[in-house]
Amino acid sequence: MFQRVADQYQDIRDGVRSICAEFPDEYHRRIDTERGYPEEFVDALTKAGWMAALVPEKYGGSGLGLCEASVIMEEINRSGGNSGACHGQMYNMNTLVRHGSEQQRQTYLPKIASGELRLQSMAVTEPTTGTDTTKIKTTALKKGDRYVIQGQKVWISRVQHSDLMILLARTTPLADVQKKSQGLSIFLVDIKEATKNGMSVKPIQNMVNHETNELFFDDLELPLESLIGEEGKGFQYILTGLNAERTLIAAECIGDGYWFMERVTKYVSEREVFGRPIGQNQGVQFPIAEAYIELEAANLMRFKACQLFDAGKPCGAEANMAKYLAAKASWEAANACLQFHGGFGFASEYDVERKFRETRLYQVAPISTNLILSYVAEHILGLPRSF
Ligand SMILES: Cc1cc2nc3c(=O)[nH]c(=O)nc-3n(C[C@H](O)[C@H](O)[C@H](O)COP(=O)(O)OP(=O)(O)OC[C@H]3O[C@@H](n4cnc5c(N)ncnc54)[C@H](O)[C@@H]3O)c2cc1C
Repeated sequence: MFQRVADQYQDIRDGVRSICAEFPDEYHRRIDTERGYPEEFVDALTKAGWMAALVPEKYGGSGLGLCEASVIMEEINRSGGNSGACHGQMYNMNTLVRHGSEQQRQTYLPKIASGELRLQSMAVTEPTTGTDTTKIKTTALKKGDRYVIQGQKVWISRVQHSDLMILLARTTPLADVQKKSQGLSIFLVDIKEATKNGMSVKPIQNMVNHETNELFFDDLELPLESLIGEEGKGFQYILTGLNAERTLIAAECIGDGYWFMERVTKYVSEREVFGRPIGQNQGVQFPIAEAYIELEAANLMRFKACQLFDAGKPCGAEANMAKYLAAKASWEAANACLQFHGGFGFASEYDVERKFRETRLYQVAPISTNLILSYVAEHILGLPRSF
């Protein structure tokens, strides 16, 4: 049966796998059917310290890099789980660590490391502006010792299972800035306080079991200290988080991809039709082999992006390309896995249809495939800008 060779992250893989092994397919299937949140699973990962991987050691975390964090996320998906329940803490962490004040780091990081607080949410997307992020309409106006937030967000995940959220809002009107990426700021929001004070949360039912919501801000007041970094530079800061997010999602897709590989190779080796295993037919072998080749290639780009990120070097191109390649490869693997399970691929008890739905999301979120192609065409290849 197909098995991957060990790599330099084997200790981390073994540690995460041992926790994941306590949460078998039946657990994730039940949570999916109930549209629940895998509380016990996320708690177990938190107690074992994995959710504090990116918190520096001096604040009580393990001070690991994005390479290691990506391995943690990969292993969750590879085990049959869904990192979507908890990946926010990984991609938000560097935004706070790199751009937060010492006061913010001291206040929040030790509590995040111990599991007392969760930083699982990031609110960027808006209903009327979509991917055109610099046009967001949510505003933060300074009034005395407060910022007052007005506006709306959509698809904001894990708000009901997080204590803190990073919020992107416009502090200077678009008409008053030289570049559209200027005049945006990010804030660290205490979710419980905010819901008592002008923020409302409306859950969105969706195709995957992903806790995600519409948010409405009606004069939400935030203390000045909730601003992260300098006012007006939020877009630059959020890009740190977005590059981390894209790279982590790439790793999750790779985890999904290997999960599909393991399932499909086992199934086609065992399932006999026309008197022989279906995996003996080249029409069955080739799509599986093709998906595997694409996964391996995506994995190289994922580690390239992680290494650049950890070295503090620009990694926008690599993070986007890793996400593109990995989301495509996991989708190819998902299709092959579903197809060659025949009718059984549609039966929930095989978990293939659940993982198929879960991995499909990553062609659209956190950035759509088209927008990555546009980024590469215009920012890397220098083609004329389309927007
Ligand atoms: C389950 C889920 C969870 C999410 N969680 C979060 C979250 O926690 N925080 C957050 O801020 N956001 C979140 N999102 C939002 C996600 O990042 C966006 O849905 C995604 O970026 C696409 O934006 P949009 O939906 O507004 O699509 P649009 O911007 O409306 O685009 C729709 C489609 O049109 C195409 N398109 C648009 N513009 C162009 C163009 N110029 N060239 C070519 N094609 C184009 C793309 O194919 C795109 O898929 C989540 C979304 C989902 C579905």
